[in-house]
Amino acid sequence: MTATEADLTTVEAHLERILSVVEPLSPLDLTLLDAHGCVLAEDIATTFPLPPFDNSAMDGYAVRSSDLAAASETAPVVLPVVGDIAAGSTGAYSVQPGLCVRIMTGAPIPSGADAVVPLEWTDGGVAQVAIRQPVEPGRHIRPTGEDAPVGTTVLPAGVHLGSTQVGLLAAVGRERVSARPRPRVVVLSTGSELVDPGTALSPGRIPDSNSTLLTAAAREAGGIAFRVGIVPDDPRMLLDTLEDQLIRADLVVTSGGVSVGAYDVVKEAIGRLGEVRFDRIAMQPGMPQSFGVIGPDRTPFFGLPGNPVSAYVSFEVFVRPAIRRMLGVEPIHRPTVRARLTSPVQSPPGRRTYARAQLSVEGGTYSVTPIGGSGSHLIASLAGANALVVVPEGTTQLDAGVSVTAMLLERRHA
Ligand code: AMP
Ligand code: MG
Repeated sequence: MTATEADLTTVEAHLERILSVVEPLSPLDLTLLDAHGCVLAEDIATTFPLPPFDNSAMDGYAVRSSDLAAASETAPVVLPVVGDIAAGSTGAYSVQPGLCVRIMTGAPIPSGADAVVPLEWTDGGVAQVAIRQPVEPGRHIRPTGEDAPVGTTVLPAGVHLGSTQVGLLAAVGRERVSARPRPRVVVLSTGSELVDPGTALSPGRIPDSNSTLLTAAAREAGGIAFRVGIVPDDPRMLLDTLEDQLIRADLVVTSGGVSVGAYDVVKEAIGRLGEVRFDRIAMQPGMPQSFGVIGPDRTPFFGLPGNPVSAYVSFEVFVRPAIRRMLGVEPIHRPTVRARLTSPVQSPPGRRTYARAQLSVEGGTYSVTPIGGSGSHLIASLAGANALVVVPEGTTQLDAGVSVTAMLLERRHA
C-alpha cells in the first residue's frame, strides 16, 4: 500500500460516522397527504366499526328471505316495493313480511330485511317486483364491523405510509396523524464557473447541473428538497447563503469546492459554521468528501465533490442513506443484485469503484454492462445508467463473465 492509500478512509467508516450523527426526525401532526411516504408514529385503532352499519353489497331489493322460499324461474314470487333506499340515505325504513324495498349498493339495510336480492334475479320492477330465486339469510349484506370491529389496531406505529395506508387512515375517519416528516434538504452548488441552465454560456462557463441533479435525487430519496442554486467561490457569500438557508434545513448538501485546489470555497469557509471534517475516501468516483454538523441546531452537512458523476455517486452512497434514516424508513440502502458482467471494469488499487452500468434481466438472470468512461464529468452516460457495478477495494479488474454486485438505481419519486 502506498502512503496515499494509507490515509484513505473506507466507505464503511465514513458511512458509520454519518449514521452515528443523523437521527430520525421527531414526529409531527401531519395531514394524510403530507404523511404519504412517511413513517407512522402512533398506533391507529378504529373508533367506529368498519363498515359502520349493515349495508347492501348489491343494487337490488332488501327482503325477508323467508318470503322467497318458493321462488323459482317458472314461478317467481311477486312482492310489493314499498320504498327506495339510496347510498347515503338516512331514512328509517322497515320491511314488513310480504314486502320489500329497493336498495342501492352501500345503502343501510332496513330493519326487518335479512337479505338482498340482486337486480339480476328480478324483473327490475318499481311498484312491485318478480323475484326468480330464493335467497339465504345474510346474502349480499356487508355486516357492521366485518372489516374491523371498534378498537381494532389497523396500522401500528412504524409502518411506511403508502397510498393504501393513507387510504385506510381516511377510511377510519382520521384527518391528521402523527408521523415522522420528510427531511427538508437544502441543495446548493459552489463554483464561479457555473451559470443557471438557460443562461447563454460565455467562455469558461458551464451550466450548473448538480443542484438540479441533487435536488431531484433528494426528492427521490423521500426528502422535501429546495434547490438554492449557485454560490460563487467566495467564502463570505457561501457563509451568508448557508446562514440564511439553515432556518429551513434538516440537511444541507453542497457540491464542489471540497478538494485541495485554490478557491475550494467549502473547505475554506465551512469550519466557521460548525464541526465539519474533510476526508479522502477509498472510493472512485467521490474521493474527497466533507461531512459534519453546522449551525445552532447542528444540522447535518454534506460537502460533495463537484464533478457531476462524483456528486451523484456520493449522494447515492452517503446522502441517500442519511435521508432515509431521517425519514425512519428501511432499508436505508439501495438494493443490490448479483449480475453477470458483460465487459471488463477496472478499479484503482485500494479503492471501491462504483461504475455506471445498464442492468437487464433475461430469463430470470441479471446481466450488467458498464457504460461511459471512468471520467467523473461524463454526465451523459450517467443519465443512461440504471445501476452501479460495485468493484471491491481489493480488486483492480473484473473480467467479462464474472458475477458482480450491482446497486439498483430505481428512479421512483418517493
Ligand atoms: P470542484 O469539486 O469544485 O473542484 O469541481 C470539480 C469539477 O466539477 C469542475 O470541473 C467543475 O467545473 C465541475 N462542477 C462543479 N460544480 C458543478 C455543478 N454544479 N454542475 C456541473 N459541474 C460542476
Ligand atoms: Mg469548484
